[in-house]
Amino acid sequence: MEQSVPSNPSAPLSWNPSSRHRVLIIGSGFGGLFAAKALRRAEVDVTVLASTPHHLFQPLLYQVATGILSQGEIAPASREILRRQRNVSVLLGTAEQIDTAARTVTARAPGRTAPFDVGYDSLIVATGASQSYFGRPEFAEHAPGLKSIDDALELRGRIFGAFELAELEENPRDRARRITFAVVGAGATGVEMAGQIAELAHRALRGEYRRVDSREARVLLIDAADIVLPSFGDHLSDKALQHLKKLGVEVRLGTKVEDVDARGITVKNPDGSVERIESMTKIWAAGVAASPFADVLAQATGAETDRAGRLKVLPDCTLPGHPEIFVVGDMMTLDALPGVAQVAIQSGKFAAERIEARLHGRPGPERFRYRDKGSMATISRFDAVASVGPIRATGWPAWLLWLVIHLFYLVGFEHRITTLFHWAVSFAGRGRAERAVTARQALGHDDRKPDPQAN
Ligand SMILES: Cc1cc2nc3c(=O)[nH]c(=O)nc-3n(C[C@H](O)[C@H](O)[C@H](O)COP(=O)(O)OP(=O)(O)OC[C@H]3O[C@@H](n4cnc5c(N)ncnc54)[C@H](O)[C@@H]3O)c2cc1C
Repeated sequence: MEQSVPSNPSAPLSWNPSSRHRVLIIGSGFGGLFAAKALRRAEVDVTVLASTPHHLFQPLLYQVATGILSQGEIAPASREILRRQRNVSVLLGTAEQIDTAARTVTARAPGRTAPFDVGYDSLIVATGASQSYFGRPEFAEHAPGLKSIDDALELRGRIFGAFELAELEENPRDRARRITFAVVGAGATGVEMAGQIAELAHRALRGEYRRVDSREARVLLIDAADIVLPSFGDHLSDKALQHLKKLGVEVRLGTKVEDVDARGITVKNPDGSVERIESMTKIWAAGVAASPFADVLAQATGAETDRAGRLKVLPDCTLPGHPEIFVVGDMMTLDALPGVAQVAIQSGKFAAERIEARLHGRPGPERFRYRDKGSMATISRFDAVASVGPIRATGWPAWLLWLVIHLFYLVGFEHRITTLFHWAVSFAGRGRAERAVTARQALGHDDRKPDPQAN
C-alpha cells in the first residue's frame, strides 16, 4: 500500500491505496464496522474513514450518561478492533465532499486545515443519523441529545451536577428546579433514560446528601404521541408505562414541547393548556435526521431523500445510477426499515457481500432482505420489555435476554468482562462506578463563563 505524506503537515494529504480494488467505507458505526469485517477475506484494500476514532455502541450510551459504564467500554478504538485485518486502513476524518466522476471523497481531519482525498472503486456510506429538533435547533443548547460520547458525558455531568448544585440551594423552589429532569421522547432511549434517572434518585444516590432528599427528584417523560415505545405494540407499551409509573416517572403523553430554555420547558397539554415546567436538566430523545453527508451525496448524485433527509436507495442498497455507491444503516431508507443496529449491521454486511460477489463475477444477492431479530428496552434494573419473533416478554426474563444480547454484541472480550463487572456493581449493588463530573460538564458550557441558570 502506497501513501504520499507531504512533509508540510498542513498540505493536502492523498491516500492512494494500491492497484487492488479499493473499497472506501465512511463511518465506523454498526454499518461501517460490520461491512469492513465482512471484507476480511476479500482481495480488496479497505479504507475506513470516520469522524471519530472509535466504534460506538449507541444502545448503551444511556448507561454512560447515568454513570453505570465508562465510555471506553462502549467505544473501543476502531483500529484496535481491526488491527488483525491486514487489508484495512483506518483514517480519522470527516467526509465533506464527493466527486463521483473522479471517485474521490474529500475529508478533513480535526485540527488540520487542509483537506485530504481518498479514492475508491466501491464506496459504502454509513454515516448514521444525528438528532432532529423538528426545526428548533436552538433547543439543542439546553436539551442535549444522546448520540455521541460527548453527549453522554455532558449529560452525565448535568445529571450528577444537578444533585450537587441542589445541595447548595437554600430555597426549596430552586432546589426542586435543580432536580427536575425532563426527558423528551418516549421511544427506547427516552424510556431508558427516564427509568435510569429515577433509579439513580431513588436507589443509587439515596442518603448521600444532607439538604436534598434525592428521592424528591421529579422525572418527567414527555411525548406528543399517546403511547410509550410505540414500535413495541400495545401490550408491551402498556406494560412499560405501568413500570415507569411504578418507578415514579411522571409520564406526560399527548404533550407537545413548545419551548425550551436554560431554566425550564414549556409544554402544551392534551387539553390545550400551556404549562411551564421549571427544570434544570432537559434531555432530547425525540427525532432523528440523517447525517449531513446524506445531503452532500444527494446533491452529487441526484438521489432523493425522505423527510428525515435519509437517502432513498435501490433494493440492493445502491444509489440510482451509481452501482458503485452503497448507502447502509441509519442514513438510508428502504421498505420503511427502522433505524436500528441490526438494519445497519445486516445492510453493511450485505454491501460487502455484493462487492465481493461482483469482483468474482458472481451474481450475488440481488436485494437486501432484513431479518428482524426483535427489539428490547430496559426500564430499570431487572426490568425490561422484549419483542422477539412471536415472543413478548416483560420483567426479569426480558431483562436477562437484554443482558445476554447486549453482551454478545459488545465488541471485544475485555469490554464484555468489565461491562459485566460494572453491571454487577450497579444492578446487584446500588453504586455507580462512573461518577466523575467536571465543572464544564456539569454546567454544560465553558465553566469560566457565568452560569445561565444561576439565580
Ligand atoms: C441513544 C441510542 C440508543 C439506541 N438504542 C438502540 C437499541 O437499543 N437497539 C437498536 O437496535 N438500535 C438502537 N439505536 C440505534 C442504533 O444505534 C443505530 O441504528 C445504529 O447505530 C446505526 O448504525 P450506522 O452505522 O448507520 O450509524 P452510526 O452507528 O451512527 O455510525 C455512524 C458513523 O459515521 C461516522 N460519521 C458520521 N458522519 C461522518 C462523516 N461526514 N465523515 C466520516 N464519518 C462520519 C460517525 O463518526 C460514526 O462512526 C440507538 C441509537 C441511539 C442514539
